[in-house]
Amino acid sequence: SSQLMAGKRGLIMGLANDKSIAWGIAKACADAGAELAFSYQGEALKKRVDPLAAQLGSDIVLPCDVADEGSVDALFAALEEKWGKLDFLVHAIGFSDKNELRGRYVDTTRGNFQMTMDISVYSFTSVMQRAEKMMSEGGSAVTLTYYGAEQVMPHYNVMGVAKAALEASVKYLAEDLGKDGIRVNAISAGPIKTLAASGIGDFRYIMKWNEFNSPLRRNVTIDDVGKSALYLLSDLSSGVTGENLHVDAGYHVVGMKAVDAPDI
Ligand code: NAD
Repeated sequence: SSQLMAGKRGLIMGLANDKSIAWGIAKACADAGAELAFSYQGEALKKRVDPLAAQLGSDIVLPCDVADEGSVDALFAALEEKWGKLDFLVHAIGFSDKNELRGRYVDTTRGNFQMTMDISVYSFTSVMQRAEKMMSEGGSAVTLTYYGAEQVMPHYNVMGVAKAALEASVKYLAEDLGKDGIRVNAISAGPIKTLAASGIGDFRYIMKWNEFNSPLRRNVTIDDVGKSALYLLSDLSSGVTGENLHVDAGYHVVGMKAVDAPDI
């Protein structure tokens, strides 16, 4: 493992278990020598996150519910006390009522629309407000998005609308924070079987479709995403900001079902 991230300190938000995209990213960063802190949502997840953090040599595991501004403030106050400065941040958080991740987008309720936007979009802006203050020597932040922001995907519904807003916010954040040497990028990951993904209707079918029709003829793993995140979080991408890097086995360039794809 290279020491690409030696001397760098990063906050990983959105680790739920060892299937989480946040775990793939954390492993890649720790492998490259980064020092990590983790935030988790709700006491129930603490007992899962503690041992995973320990596995990567971290004992900084802090609670944060991004729906609550006070909770975000408390997280950054605690981190400021421990570290003073922050070099990178990973936002791997999204949420919507799973009853609305099936059926028609047009039936989305106002309440779930607002909650989905708040937790999946505004939270990134909210954490960057605090992270900016700790990134006095510049920094790099990455959030996670999906192709359902760009094209209509079955069942993705309000989450697709939220990811479109998230991708737009990445560009605005990149402009605002670029003057301070802070880079802000997104990774558009192909479908991966995680806790969050299990809420999406017909997810197995979506996985099969991507496997048979993407140029690499496979699905991506959390390690694929981790390695690309390492690029965006490290100095290797020093000239890159406001970007949306597709880590999807190339699926986003395809316009039609592959000729060799079996019927599913
Ligand atoms: P995951 O379930 O492992 O992670 C989602 C995380 O969001 C969990 O850790 C959960 O605790 C956290 N979260 C939800 N509400 C929160 C709140 N109010 N406060 C704090 N944390 C909260 O699933 P994942 O697939 O690794 O998801 C990570 C990100 O990747 C999400 O933004 C998701 O939309 C995105 N993404 C996932 C896929 C996929 O196919 N799995 C593809 C593209 C993008």
